[in-house]
Amino acid sequence: MPATLLLKPGKEKSVRNGHPWIFSGAIATCEGSVQPGEAVDVCDHKRRFLARAFYNPQGSLVARVFSGTPGMQLDAEWCHQSLSRAEALREALQGPDQTMMRLVASEADFMPGLIVDRYGKGIVFQILTAGLERVRDTIIACLRERYEPDFLVERSDEAVRKKEGLAERKELIWADPRWARGDAHASLGAVCARENALTFEIDCWDGHKTGFYLDQRQNRAWVRAVSAGKRVLNCFSYTGGFGASALAGGATEVVNVDESESALALSERNCARALHAGESDLNAKETKSTGNERFRSVRADVFRYLRELKATGEKFDLVVMDPPKFISDRAHLDRACRGYKDLNLLALQLLREGGMLATFSCSGLMSRDLFQKVVFGAAVDAPAQLQVVEHLSQADDHPVLLSFPESLYLKGLLARKVTAP
Ligand code: SAH
Repeated sequence: MPATLLLKPGKEKSVRNGHPWIFSGAIATCEGSVQPGEAVDVCDHKRRFLARAFYNPQGSLVARVFSGTPGMQLDAEWCHQSLSRAEALREALQGPDQTMMRLVASEADFMPGLIVDRYGKGIVFQILTAGLERVRDTIIACLRERYEPDFLVERSDEAVRKKEGLAERKELIWADPRWARGDAHASLGAVCARENALTFEIDCWDGHKTGFYLDQRQNRAWVRAVSAGKRVLNCFSYTGGFGASALAGGATEVVNVDESESALALSERNCARALHAGESDLNAKETKSTGNERFRSVRADVFRYLRELKATGEKFDLVVMDPPKFISDRAHLDRACRGYKDLNLLALQLLREGGMLATFSCSGLMSRDLFQKVVFGAAVDAPAQLQVVEHLSQADDHPVLLSFPESLYLKGLLARKVTAP
């Protein structure tokens, strides 16, 4: 008899509809002895089979569905099947212009708690749940077998693991000696891969997450498309993804603002690359200014720096506002809204008439609707009218499952500041 989670009457609906999360309040009993992360059958109160999930009684999110097939185990077969399904979605998205991408996006790819990112011929992954931690060796073996990577790195150094009773882990699992040329860690700090035909240098060892914010790929293409001849203020620039894209699109000047010195150092190399590697839409050699005049770095707190800029009366043609996640629980939603409003208000005040704002929230707890209201509130106070040019979202290698609305976390607006006649 497999261990079984019996749900309370009426609590089966979301599981039946494909939502992968089961909270403690939905559970009547857990039959059988189960170690944290072990697989169980999930059944309704009449013992009808619903799904296979892994169970972890720590915290309130106690089970995560990994299959709808009775008897499915978290084994190599499950892993290969899941990776094949994830690959099929992404086949058309890869090519010489896109050599980095998310290969597995956790629940949205039916592998709850697994992130797998490709950087060129290297693979960086994260395991964030106890269920997948139990089968870590299987996952590693599958990744090595399928992708034969130049390097395989685990970046499970995320605080959310604590909620699952897991310690953080960061490990170089494999590096091809021909690739690493002796010093694998140094090589991992400067991995090169391409996004939208631009080459970026990425720190896969000490960078955020797995090294790069891959979810902004299509939004960076938007910024590139509207940057020609523009003065661009890139707030929370990290390693310069938006800044380099704007330069490639012909921006006359980019100011990258971030509080991290190491991120700014990387952003400078990435911006220089976008200008000088023949990757610019406008031929960089034809422009009179040198690369150094076309971008600069400001190490500052964005909130404070924008206030300083406002006092000087400086104006920009395009402001990119991509702050980090402000909220990790619902109790902080109000405070986060005030933060987003403050930033967007300042951004609008720094925009010249007709200028564009590309603004984002990657906080899953903030809905698209609420985000739009917050930006509207900023526009009212600025005061400005905003014409929405495009509703922005996460890149297509970060799929959204309709049965799992939580998989949509990145939303944004590309909008033009206008004044009614
Ligand atoms: N736009 C980036 C990703 C931003 S990640 C990209 O496209 O890759 C968030 C960044 O905000 C980090 O680099 C972090 O160093 C920076 N940051 C966080 N709080 C900040 C603050 N108050 N002022 C300036 N930078 C901040």
